[in-house]
Amino acid sequence: MWESFVASIDVRTTYLIGGLVGWVAAAAVFILRNLHRPSHSAAGKLAWSLAFCATTLLLASVRTSMPGFLVTRTMLITAGIGTILLLAAVRALYDRPTPMGVQAPVIGLFALTVLQLPDPRHALILVFAVQLITNAAGALVVAGEEEPHARAGRIGLIAVMVVLALAGGFRMIDMLRMSTAEVEALANRTEPNRGPLVLVYSFTSLVVMLAYIGIAYGRLLADVRHLASTDELTGLASRRYLFGHGEPWLTARGRAAHFTALMMIDVDRFKSINDRFGHEVGDRVLRHVAGILRDAMRSDSVLARYGGEEFCAMVPVSDPHEAETVAERVRAAVQARPFVLAGGSIDVTVSIGLACHRPGLTLREVLRTADSRVYFAKAAGRNRVVSEYPILEEAIV
Ligand code: GH3
Ligand code: MG
Ligand code: MG
Repeated sequence: MWESFVASIDVRTTYLIGGLVGWVAAAAVFILRNLHRPSHSAAGKLAWSLAFCATTLLLASVRTSMPGFLVTRTMLITAGIGTILLLAAVRALYDRPTPMGVQAPVIGLFALTVLQLPDPRHALILVFAVQLITNAAGALVVAGEEEPHARAGRIGLIAVMVVLALAGGFRMIDMLRMSTAEVEALANRTEPNRGPLVLVYSFTSLVVMLAYIGIAYGRLLADVRHLASTDELTGLASRRYLFGHGEPWLTARGRAAHFTALMMIDVDRFKSINDRFGHEVGDRVLRHVAGILRDAMRSDSVLARYGGEEFCAMVPVSDPHEAETVAERVRAAVQARPFVLAGGSIDVTVSIGLACHRPGLTLREVLRTADSRVYFAKAAGRNRVVSEYPILEEAIV
């Protein structure tokens, strides 16, 4: 069944279609190279690789009507360049750019060698060896990288390169086994050889194109998610992240009867820092404070920049008493590390409103409580933690 299917494939038409599809794939990758800007140069190389491979297929489709030294050698050269560029593209895709000073001489040397080798069998062995080595190396590069958001694309790329490496290896062994006369007879045959390899060579470009789109799209999505969930200035979680992920996190902890301390942390008299030293120094002070907060929190906490000079922290604690200890430690850590700048330092302090989450309360409700306690901390003189409503206590007293 399979054999009769393979035997019924018209090789020249398949190569022709494969070549045209390859050119379309090359154009698609070239046009889509702006989809993910940082992958731009890799995509350019990939497009060239596909274009060279497609040209090989188009030459293969006309070869039997125009047999001859030049067509065959040109085919071998375009195939080799295509495969070398595929490795360069894959390396660039994973941040290991190949310098032009290496890539250009390698391609030049390869092309010259193919042209110079008198025995076509040797030229074929060289091309298949290049196909085996570059694709095996490329598959290793991709397999060695972790990229969870572009898994399908990565698997597609690895699959293509493993198949191409195996094809190169088998064809090379074929050529090593045959005599020069046999290889020449094969090359000059008007009836081209048939086999599943024809299909592989003709349609891998589609898989490569889809793999590239998958990887670029996955990266784009990851970048967008990162941008949305990160505060640009401090690198902390954004307010959007706090409400998107913090709310369900808090609810789940409440359901499991775990305490969570929520702190609103407001830098004291920050406006005067801006006024005295300028906005740019103000930004650096915010980064400085963010760094201290990050160091002072355990990694299981959620720390976000809530607004201008306000931060919000959600800290898992075992009881309200521990919450107060943590908040006090955070406050003291900021006070202990003034911001150093040329010619002096700026004392920075924070006021913290502390509230404990109880099951049934929403994040906004706890935040509101913590925020109102910040105002009490300010009114009481700043640089302190408030975890109750002092006014109520005063009223009771
Ligand atoms: P208080 O002790 O009462 O909190 O006084 P404050 O000056 O810290 O509070 P206020 O709300 O009056 O001022 C906050 C200032 O923070 C005003 C605003 O210009 C500044 N600010 C907000 N976002 C940024 C920012 O991203 N960078 C810088 N440099 N300043 C910012
Ligand atoms: Mg404020
Ligand atoms: Mg403030």
